[in-house]
Amino acid sequence: MEILQCLLPNPSLLNLKSYEIDLESHQLTLTVSSTQTRTQCPLCGDWTQRVHSRYQRTLADLPCLHFSLILLVQVCKFFCLNSACCRRIFTERIPEVAVPWARKTVRQVQRLQMIGLALGGAAGSRLGNHLGYSSCGSTLLNHLQKLPLPEFKTPKILGVDDFAFRKGHQYGTILVNLETHQPIALLADRKADTLADWLREHPGVEILSRDRSKTYKSAMDKAAPEAIQVADRFHLVKNLSDTLEIAFGNYRAELKAIAQTKNSVLIEDSSETVVVTPQPTAIATAQEQTQINHQYRLEQQRQIKTLRQQRWSMEAIAKELGVSISTVRRYLAQPDFPEIPTRRSTFGRSLIDPYKQEIVAWWNSGIMESKVLMSLLQKKGYQGSQRTLQRYLSLLREAQGLPSAPVRVSKSLPKVVDTQSPPLTPGRAAYLIVLKEENREPEEIELLEHLVLQHPDLAILVDLAHEFLQLLRQRQVEVFDEWLMKALACPIPPLKKLAAGLMNDYAAVKASLMTEVSNGPVEGLNNRLKMLKRQMYGRAGLELLTKRFVMSP
Ligand SMILES: [Zn+2]
Repeated sequence: MEILQCLLPNPSLLNLKSYEIDLESHQLTLTVSSTQTRTQCPLCGDWTQRVHSRYQRTLADLPCLHFSLILLVQVCKFFCLNSACCRRIFTERIPEVAVPWARKTVRQVQRLQMIGLALGGAAGSRLGNHLGYSSCGSTLLNHLQKLPLPEFKTPKILGVDDFAFRKGHQYGTILVNLETHQPIALLADRKADTLADWLREHPGVEILSRDRSKTYKSAMDKAAPEAIQVADRFHLVKNLSDTLEIAFGNYRAELKAIAQTKNSVLIEDSSETVVVTPQPTAIATAQEQTQINHQYRLEQQRQIKTLRQQRWSMEAIAKELGVSISTVRRYLAQPDFPEIPTRRSTFGRSLIDPYKQEIVAWWNSGIMESKVLMSLLQKKGYQGSQRTLQRYLSLLREAQGLPSAPVRVSKSLPKVVDTQSPPLTPGRAAYLIVLKEENREPEEIELLEHLVLQHPDLAILVDLAHEFLQLLRQRQVEVFDEWLMKALACPIPPLKKLAAGLMNDYAAVKASLMTEVSNGPVEGLNNRLKMLKRQMYGRAGLELLTKRFVMSP
């Protein structure tokens, strides 16, 4: 008995009278009574001791080992003695144990709220059931709704960034205290007025860290003119990387030449050999189509699951969405599709890659029939299709200057060589430059050395990019003006455009070179936000999302 008394929500307010254990249904029932002899009228606040009657409340409490715990609490009804009060009889309040009318104890509701914050409605309810809290998803969300957002002090340093409710459609704004790295709030959109309103309601921010968006800049200019704005260095590096990619796009021939120079270095006797030009395995349009198809399927599954949660029948869902019942059944049975289509682990590599050296050897020895090569390859364990093989063979033909269709040739052909190095695309070149020096592979360093030799403009571009990265990374504010002048006068249009943009945002960019403030924590939190959105099928309202984001344990 003594130990059971200790388990009660408030052992001084409740007194254990008896207990009952049901071994079959794993239920422990404790009958307790309130020890309060006097209480206050909830309306007028007057104290009273006059008992009207007694009644019993049934409360679900925290599960106890593998027993669910039910409290049968005997409480009183009291008379209000204040003749001026319009309440005559009222029920005894035990706020530390349970709020009026509740069927659960306060501490059980708190536990459910913690589960809901961490996992959301559906997953939270599943875990809850395993742990002995039987509560459906929507009840869990109701409990979350009652949870007030924590109070916060307006931070001195505020990080601002945007995030996608639905990529490409709807965006919001995320606010983070950069001193404590705590998220503070989510705003419903990324409009200047919304941020300006928030800043006016919360005066006292001294430093504002943001990306280079004009909208946020104008909001901050309007609503917090005395605060220092800092352009985030992460976004500055990204601006540079995007600029480089565009700039390299105008020098594709030079990039291709580098790959070939590199290959020819590897081939000793270049007069009698030809080199296979590598081709990207997945072309952009195909990838885009995959993405579109996936988004369509994702949306369809969301709709089906939403309607099902609203208790629509499978037939009705099928009719509403114009799909077959078997599709509805299949989509319901499947786990939620990921936001991004899954790729095979060998994405970007062809099944034929491991066999290329052997194919080239056979090819050079005169075996050029695709059917023969296919049967040879299959013996070696090749799992790919004939089509994939033929695509590769047509590259070999192209390298040797043969027509694309197979023909009999009598003259002797140059030997082909496939060095299998990935093509140097503008994106890869930009990436190599932004990469910190200590993180580059020896081969990549060599590539960059070749790059600057291809064209005088490329040398200027790479030099200016490195200088910019260095002044960002080492906060060399004193050389920033000089760099800007050089970039503005350089012969590369995309870089000039970047420099002009930096000029327009001069104060914020310069400030980023003088402070340690960084939006890095905001980027990390943005990723957590993405995870929360996916857990709730992207359907969570702003309020619920904010709570889970700001208060998640
Ligand atoms: Zn009263």
